[in-house]
Amino acid sequence: MAAEVAMPDTVTLLLLDMDGTVYVGGVVIDGVPEALKRWTSAGRKVVFITNNTSRTIEQHALKLQGMGLPATPNNIVSPVEPTSRFLRDRGVTDVFLVATNAVTEEFASHGIAFRGEPQAVVITYDIELTYAKLAEASKLINKGLPYYATHIDFFCPTEDGPVPDIGSFIAMLENVTGVAPTSVFGKPSDSLVELIRDRYSLNSLVVGDRLHTDIATGINAQVPTCLVLTGETSKMMADASPYQPTIISPSLPVLIDDLLAR
Ligand SMILES: [Mg+2]
Repeated sequence: MAAEVAMPDTVTLLLLDMDGTVYVGGVVIDGVPEALKRWTSAGRKVVFITNNTSRTIEQHALKLQGMGLPATPNNIVSPVEPTSRFLRDRGVTDVFLVATNAVTEEFASHGIAFRGEPQAVVITYDIELTYAKLAEASKLINKGLPYYATHIDFFCPTEDGPVPDIGSFIAMLENVTGVAPTSVFGKPSDSLVELIRDRYSLNSLVVGDRLHTDIATGINAQVPTCLVLTGETSKMMADASPYQPTIISPSLPVLIDDLLAR
């Protein structure tokens, strides 16, 4: 799958992946806060895109601010909002949610809550997962309720190796019910980029370290992409991949200085 979109002359909006692009294992990558300061001081914009639905947008903002990054709840997107919009567009507002308490409240702020007669099951990267939630989700899926997931990542990287993300919960529920979620909203789906397009009409560049999520998202949304080599992908892996980025840069600070010098 080749990138079909050319780089614009001037990039004005960076759509940034987080883990492996701005930080690794909770530690900010050298030079990233200063580079983003140069970027925003030049009047250009940044939006952070995350698949991680174990935290609310507010919680993501606090984490990024703690690393000295220019993040507010207004320039971070997660799959919670496009998932909510998809449900509301279909008249679905009563949902059995597998989510943390904080993320459950965030869904409620978008009009999606459990009201006693669920029309669908939605699962997230619930780090407060319990057996009771899994059993209830299974029973509702067995009954034939529509079933959706915010994203599909199998694991979350940590300093001590991978730990289960939502994809592992999806596999468990599929082993039990024989059913997989019918729609997902995180990367590599284009729904997060669509959401951003509704708010900004700027020349965007998707930047990330994962080919099958970040780079695939840009390809799906027809936005140019930059692979950075600070995360899980090497130049050799990129060369062999069906997901070809528009450009490759050693790191986000190098990319930003190149873009500002154009
Ligand atoms: Mg990443």
